[in-house]
Amino acid sequence: MDICDGFVGAIGRTPLIRLSALSAETGCEILAKAEWLNPGGSVKDRAAWGIINNAERAGQLRPGGIVVEGTAGNTGIGLAHICNARGYRCIIVIPETQTQEKIDLLKTLGAEVHLVPPAPYSDPNNYQKIAGRMAAEMEGAIWANQFDNTANRDAHYSTTGPEIWEQCAGQIDAFVAATGTGGTLGGVARALKERSDKVRIVLADPAGSSLYNYVYHGTPSSSSGSSITEGIGSSRVTANLQDTPIDTAYSIPDTESVPMVYRLLYQEGLFVGSSSGVNVSAALRLAKELGPGHTIVTVLCDGGARYSSRLFNSQWLAEKQLLPAG
Ligand code: PMP
Repeated sequence: MDICDGFVGAIGRTPLIRLSALSAETGCEILAKAEWLNPGGSVKDRAAWGIINNAERAGQLRPGGIVVEGTAGNTGIGLAHICNARGYRCIIVIPETQTQEKIDLLKTLGAEVHLVPPAPYSDPNNYQKIAGRMAAEMEGAIWANQFDNTANRDAHYSTTGPEIWEQCAGQIDAFVAATGTGGTLGGVARALKERSDKVRIVLADPAGSSLYNYVYHGTPSSSSGSSITEGIGSSRVTANLQDTPIDTAYSIPDTESVPMVYRLLYQEGLFVGSSSGVNVSAALRLAKELGPGHTIVTVLCDGGARYSSRLFNSQWLAEKQLLPAG
């Protein structure tokens, strides 16, 4: 019998997919972890469960308790599912700049959604800080705090990383991923380096994020440009990203990642979101740099349907001057 226990039992053990056209083009194995196939539709189901499970075990979250989080969407969606499955109330603070699809889905799932204007991390009205204050003021509530709660990274250290290693039978030269909270990159990097210090860890950073400069100069400062991607890039080094053994970084502009999303859709048959475009663009750059014969693993973080009104809306893309040719 192969039966998993409820929603949380279905998280993880996602397929590792060979990207055929890109692998043929480069002579490398370019492999992508299909994280949009998690039951809540994104890589963040792993972090959401890691955080809730940890709080339950520590006795911070009790039956009937409340989970509060500031999120760009996917963590909130994962948390809302898990809260339903385990009987918690879910309160989500989300910047109003995120796609309507994610906001509507959160409401459908029964989360209490607080839309807030975008504000930098240094501002007390930043969505993460609002979530932290709300949780502190409510009896029986925890703040998931995905950015600095390392239960997020631990979830990837104990699941995503070992899954990748086993799926490749240890034949892996590099792992490439963009980071939002740093949970995926931080956890997977540690798990892989522990098994082989030869595995190269590569950060894919969207334009305008500060992490590319952090890798090369040691302090986070904004790279040039801006990005339409959601859920990735950062102005600071979170606790989850801290001390991650990163070997190389690429700054990926939207003019590269958006066409890649369409390549994934029409050449590989994979309908995924913008951060996946950044990840695979960086994997392709690395494959070209390393040359044929290498195995490069990356992540397809969420599905394309969450971005129908933007990334897959030609009028919107044309306004941003990002409409791919052809
Ligand atoms: N892609 C998407 C679409 C996301 O929502 C996130 C998380 N915000 C990431 C990538 C990055 O994952 P992590 O938080 O583990 O760095």
